[in-house]
Amino acid sequence: MLRPALLFAALTVLCCALAAPASAAPIPTRLAYGTSEIVPIPAAIPHEEGDMVDRRIVPNLRWLAKRFPIYVTDGYSGRLPGGGGRAGCHGCHVKNSDHYNGLAVDIVALNGRGGCDGGWRGITRLARWAEPRQNRPRGPFRWVGYDGDAGHGCGHHLHLSWEHAIAPMFTLAEWVEVFPVRRQGIATKPKPTPPPAGEPSGLRPPKGPQGGTGAEATQSGGLSARGD
Ligand SMILES: [Zn+2]
Repeated sequence: MLRPALLFAALTVLCCALAAPASAAPIPTRLAYGTSEIVPIPAAIPHEEGDMVDRRIVPNLRWLAKRFPIYVTDGYSGRLPGGGGRAGCHGCHVKNSDHYNGLAVDIVALNGRGGCDGGWRGITRLARWAEPRQNRPRGPFRWVGYDGDAGHGCGHHLHLSWEHAIAPMFTLAEWVEVFPVRRQGIATKPKPTPPPAGEPSGLRPPKGPQGGTGAEATQSGGLSARGD
């Protein structure tokens, strides 16, 4: 039989385990290697005309758009290959921002009417889900900019970046961390991550999103501290 002290300790553990918010649990993630490109954001994800991202985060964005009232205002920022002009907001982001790799999005409330109104409740929920504690985002997110971060927050915008291999600006990262999604939700058992066999499998080497060149592409690699 358990002594009262032990019983109490056991109950305390049980109680705290039950009380712990489900949202604090880690999100199962995997690393997505493989060929990628910068693609237009699909119509199922509300967004500003012309916004683009690295294809590997599109399934995550679709999943988010089904559950949170998001409207993407910026994704990839930089030149497009083949003289296709530019995508994204020019001069909006910090040096080495994840936006330059197509692995970040800026989000506002789909139904916000100005300011931090009720339309932002769902965005605040999303921000807390991605970053339950300030400056401690859960994987796969690398940086979450919201309340407490200058230039971000309720009524302004939410920034989400995905963790990725270090890559120079205006190039595609060798891998991206994502949460695997199924029709019903986040898969609890992510597929084992295939190791990169020798060469990154079919990945375009860091030459820019399909060959982005010019002065922008000469940047050294690295990640910004914030990624916004
Ligand atoms: Zn941003």
